[in-house]
Amino acid sequence: MRPAERLRSPSNNSSCIDLREQDEKIVKPARSGGCNLGVSYGPESDLYSFPNGHPLNNNRTKLFASALSEISKANPQNIRIIESVISNDEEVLRFHTKQYLDFVKQSSIRGSGFLDYGDTPSFKGVYEAALFTVGNSLNGLQMILEGKVHHFFNPVGGLHHARRDRAGGFCVFNDCAVAISTALNSLQMKRVAYVDIDAHHGDGVYYGFEDDPRVFIGDIHEDGRYLYPGSGSSNETGSGAAKGTKLNIPLAPGSGDEAFMNAFDKVLKFIAESKPEFIFLQCGADGLEKDPLTHLKYSPKVHAYAASKLHELAHEVCGGKLLAMGGGGYDAQNVRDAWIAVVREMSVAEHEMASV
Ligand SMILES: [Zn+2]
Ligand SMILES: [Zn+2]
Repeated sequence: MRPAERLRSPSNNSSCIDLREQDEKIVKPARSGGCNLGVSYGPESDLYSFPNGHPLNNNRTKLFASALSEISKANPQNIRIIESVISNDEEVLRFHTKQYLDFVKQSSIRGSGFLDYGDTPSFKGVYEAALFTVGNSLNGLQMILEGKVHHFFNPVGGLHHARRDRAGGFCVFNDCAVAISTALNSLQMKRVAYVDIDAHHGDGVYYGFEDDPRVFIGDIHEDGRYLYPGSGSSNETGSGAAKGTKLNIPLAPGSGDEAFMNAFDKVLKFIAESKPEFIFLQCGADGLEKDPLTHLKYSPKVHAYAASKLHELAHEVCGGKLLAMGGGGYDAQNVRDAWIAVVREMSVAEHEMASV
């Protein structure tokens, strides 16, 4: 049985929980020995790559991939590279509509045209490529819940712009939203947190759960008046019964580390008070200075700070259950520096691990 299969059907809930007790458990590391992190990366990661000079192509993660390989060889107890796992229609439909899924399948066979109004081109095999982005996030969710790893990172995930019924901003299927839906509806979690530090507002996740009081969102991004998708103003705090469960913090173009860290401390407080059972982190690297698509000026310290603080919080409030997903980032050196910082903070860096 492939690792992801137990989360396949909502009717499997009880067996999923029961089997956790019987599965292989990782050895608890010494308090100073860091945590055990799974990172999904392999040949399939390169499939999610748009053609013809598109900014989201598989060259952007090549430097990260080679640095990941080195750091995992140097720290085999802490960092495991995990093979890719493909998703399937039933899983995708936990968030997306059937009509949209069928549209992606047809477009993938045709291999031309666009999946949205012009940002997200189709290519042959885009359906399968997108299924891997979802499969890896779901595999991470499951491996954490089964205790096989403390934390997980799916770098070619975090595709936070896709809506239930359409693609958007280079995102075909919203792996973040499918994983959140799985946690809520298949695993019956009552409260989850989603933190998004990509330079763009995570509109697909925000509007997907705007009226869902079970989903607490903290999202720091460049002000929507200057950057796609235009949303995420501070007065967007959720709707109906979910009013007050979302925190959007837009930053002015040109904002750097200090502005981010001040905003992140507010997000941390908000998330700590929400008492989540699981924390999702979308850690797009496109807020770093020199990114060709945005106007923020972070250094990689931002990603180290966010991952370190959220890692600590996860151990305090939810037994360390933290799944990170990549997202944007269109400068290969920035992507490497930001995401290696995330990997380091969730694995080898020393932390208080009282609840592990
Ligand atoms: Zn940890
Ligand atoms: Zn982005």
